[in-house]
Amino acid sequence: MIRGVPLLEDLGNLEAKSVLVRLDLNVPITETPGGDRVVADDFRIRAALPTLLWLRDQGARITACSHLGRPKGKRDPAFDMGPVRSRLNELIEGVELLDNLRFSPGEEANDPAFVLELVEGHDAYVNDAFGSSHRAHASIVGPPQYLPSAAGRLLAREVEVLTDLLDAPVRPFVVILGGAKVKDKIGVLRSLTARADTVLVGGGMAFTFLQALGHSVGASLTDPTHLEACKELLGSPGHLMLPVDTKALAPGRKLSIEHQADPQAPTETGDGTGPDIETFGLEIPDGWRGADIGPRTVEAFAEVIGSAGTVLWNGPMGVFEDDRFAEGTRAIAQAMAHCSGRTVVGGGDSASALAQLGLEDKIDHVSTGGGATLELLEFGDLPGLAALRSAPNARADGSDAP
Ligand code: AMP
Repeated sequence: MIRGVPLLEDLGNLEAKSVLVRLDLNVPITETPGGDRVVADDFRIRAALPTLLWLRDQGARITACSHLGRPKGKRDPAFDMGPVRSRLNELIEGVELLDNLRFSPGEEANDPAFVLELVEGHDAYVNDAFGSSHRAHASIVGPPQYLPSAAGRLLAREVEVLTDLLDAPVRPFVVILGGAKVKDKIGVLRSLTARADTVLVGGGMAFTFLQALGHSVGASLTDPTHLEACKELLGSPGHLMLPVDTKALAPGRKLSIEHQADPQAPTETGDGTGPDIETFGLEIPDGWRGADIGPRTVEAFAEVIGSAGTVLWNGPMGVFEDDRFAEGTRAIAQAMAHCSGRTVVGGGDSASALAQLGLEDKIDHVSTGGGATLELLEFGDLPGLAALRSAPNARADGSDAP
């Protein structure tokens, strides 16, 4: 139950009514050898089906809408919804899908005129776009000002699982955070260190913490503007665990992703001698770049995960796009899959690592949102949920619908 937010059942009789449904169908698109754009992973499209099928069973006419990529307010064929529409119509017939919402500058600007355009001709609104509900964009916060509104099944389930984690986790509650940017995760880290029994930090973001402890991190990714914030967190109560060893790339060598971006560049600019990759303890020599957690860290992290009552994971442990540095992320995915406690994976790269390993079925909840997951965990609420709470059919006292 999500406090004060109307659910599908609160929309009343929908027979022959027109319902506008905001989905998050921002899926990866690839090109076939013949040059056709096709959906590479339909996870988010399938996740929208329970709501769409329920609405169809009620006799509603469904108009779905979503954004795709970042077309920056202009019509751009590279972000056309065609491939998404085709896949959606294979999965469920009779659902209309509007053009990419971000073809209009009014979407991201939350322009009242664009909101009016969206709600025109509709009798009700459903938000099932969990992955977009941390954005105060027109299609997320606008329609509930005008139409009876509800959270769809996916949005409701995502919020329920994540707020349960915050309110009543089975202990020990272990959080694993990784990824590149400390900046994006410092807020959620603050909120989660206060609630979790142990927070494991890996990925690029760990190096600013290691630096804050006085270790040498070589040429690893760090964020000097967040050094103080990291020091503060290290000094606060809560058990933060950092890597004890690091797999690093030699000076001058390139990651595979950098090489792909510039194929003409030589793969190495050093003298060609010595290893490309080495594992170091807490001190990384000058010029070496930490790109994955080392084996001793994997072992320590896996042990903590193994005895957890609840585990939440967001963000890769290394540059997992380069196979030489994917081991740490894979090992964490495997430890999650073997954990007998409740396991939740918060979107993005961690979800794709799981998918690559075919381990999604071994996880209790794989969230469709990355940024939205982190914001909900940090603030306990999202702009999209607040908008639904003030819809005309929401209860004035903010209590749950009967
Ligand atoms: P984020 O979007 O912040 O979750 O970061 C995801 C990205 O972090 C992935 O593309 C990884 O390649 C990158 N990443 C993880 N570990 C490292 C690292 N040690 N150095 C640089 N980038 C990293």
